Amino acid sequence: MKIETKAVHAGDRKRNPDAPGAFVPSSTPIYTATTYLYEETAKLDRILGHEEQGFSYGRYDNPTRLALEELLRELECGANAQLCSSGMAAVHLALLAALTDRRKSVLLASALYGSIPTLLHQVFEPLGVEANFVDICDLAAVEQKIAETKPGCIVMETISNPLLRVGDIDAVARLARAAGAALLVDNTFASPLLVRPMERGAHLVVESLTKFLGGHGDVLGGVVVSDAAHADVVRALARTLGPSLSPFESFLAMRGIKTFAIRMERQCSNACRIATWLGSHPRVSRVHYLADPKHPDAAVIRRLLPEGLHGALVAFELKDAGKQDVFRFMDRLKLVVCGTSLGDVHSLMSYPAISSHREIAPKQRERLGITDGLVRFCAGIEAVDDIIADLEQALA
Ligand code: PLP
Repeated sequence: MKIETKAVHAGDRKRNPDAPGAFVPSSTPIYTATTYLYEETAKLDRILGHEEQGFSYGRYDNPTRLALEELLRELECGANAQLCSSGMAAVHLALLAALTDRRKSVLLASALYGSIPTLLHQVFEPLGVEANFVDICDLAAVEQKIAETKPGCIVMETISNPLLRVGDIDAVARLARAAGAALLVDNTFASPLLVRPMERGAHLVVESLTKFLGGHGDVLGGVVVSDAAHADVVRALARTLGPSLSPFESFLAMRGIKTFAIRMERQCSNACRIATWLGSHPRVSRVHYLADPKHPDAAVIRRLLPEGLHGALVAFELKDAGKQDVFRFMDRLKLVVCGTSLGDVHSLMSYPAISSHREIAPKQRERLGITDGLVRFCAGIEAVDDIIADLEQALA
């Protein structure tokens, strides 16, 4: 089945042969129970001992969560999906799983969502894990850093935040496998409609459901999708650590995902029109957008992304602008919502210097190309002319 069909059907309409009347709900209900009872204690014993599938305790399993996990496993084409209460909880779990039985060294793309390097510094480094950084788009540098630092895990984003660089997942996966490292890809900015990193050799994929998949700005969640080799360790760690997504949030995320493909298509086409419009605006000095033929990763983008789907994100620099100018521009927006997220039905403007990259020292930010005049826009599903009119009046 194509991904648009899977998004609507996968995981739903489970028949429970033990249920009275054995009816099938057309959509998955919210199961709030934390414990599950059986007529024979021996059955509970088999379930707790992993000899039989079933539900025993809310931290281990839940029918609403399981339905969503099945859906996400299908969308991302993995062997297993494990839901977490946020995207960051998913990154934490995936890193722990990647490093089990491997070298305590992680090689990270230098352009990543800011909280991921923070996670390394706050949590992993005190436990003796070494963190090193590399420009993931420079394959020679990646190869050299792998040889020097012998990482147990390599972490990259499909589309980087906020400058929208696209690393060659195929090539990095080959280098990771040759070096015995796990490749962990954060697919949040692309979503499985654009790229499915598991099909390209990743061992683990994380996604923040808070963004395009949830899509309505009302659910915080994350998922770790893994290959068969990492499935058991991810499940075992999740049972012990308990990062589980609640049944209510699982329901909301599942409901959101049913329309994610159609939303994403519209968001991509809106972003395309807006990027073109911004490109000729006198108050804008630079536009970062994946369909730009002069994009530094144009060849990789052509190979990885489907025709006409170049993501919903556009980053742009306001000409000669400092912090106060950007604040003034954002304060004047009336339709576009100013916040720190992306991927919602409504258009969103964020300011990386005060949000996703706040924790990074100003000098390091500048070095990464994240200037004080840079804003990140994520197109919503509104009529594109209304979005452009709002941007126009705020820029004026
Ligand atoms: N990865 C990326 C690329 C993100 O942008 C974010 C959040 O903005 C996360 C991970 C973390 O997700 P969450 O906020 O759901 O923890």
